[in-house]
Amino acid sequence: MSYTLPELPYAYDALEPHFDKETMTIHHSRHHQAYVDNLNKAVAGTIGETKSIEEILREISKYTPAVRNNGGGHYNHDLFWKTLSPAAKLAPENELADEINKVFGSLDNLKVEIKNAGLGQFGSGWAWLLVKHNGTLAVSATANQDNPLMDTNLVSQGYPILGVDVWEHAYYLKYQNKRADYLDAFWSVLDWAAVEKNYTEALSKIK
Ligand code: MN
Repeated sequence: MSYTLPELPYAYDALEPHFDKETMTIHHSRHHQAYVDNLNKAVAGTIGETKSIEEILREISKYTPAVRNNGGGHYNHDLFWKTLSPAAKLAPENELADEINKVFGSLDNLKVEIKNAGLGQFGSGWAWLLVKHNGTLAVSATANQDNPLMDTNLVSQGYPILGVDVWEHAYYLKYQNKRADYLDAFWSVLDWAAVEKNYTEALSKIK
């Protein structure tokens, strides 16, 4: 199969003023496009051509660094865009809200943990909220375009349901070196309705 750049479900300027139009345009149309193009090249003529991206990532130790970097890049950005919205639901409800309160004490505590994970990731990477394979929620960070699906990830494996990109390309034009300010702004455009949906899907894969 061949991968294509997914269209954003909103305009490039829709997340202003939190995420600016120029960053969104370059991030989606150039960075994500490059991951898609390079993933297609990296899997061409390999077993990866017959697998879904999730199947590939779960067994990423069997693939080349190019598949790992660009497959992760494609998957991570696809997840990221789908959890952002100009009309974001600003807090989770129901089962996900209950589980967050149980594991982290409160939504505010979870936000602090994700912010600290993002700030603590030296260089490029992502901070995650994931459902571990035992069904519990966890926060983690990964380098480069790695993610919790990958079998190379020995610390916190599972299904990512929320990811925040802490590569400088995600924030530098607007926030320069102030990654903390970008991580604070993220909560204004994160749509918890999308995270709830991801949570339900993740649980269905475990059960
Ligand atoms: Mn990115």
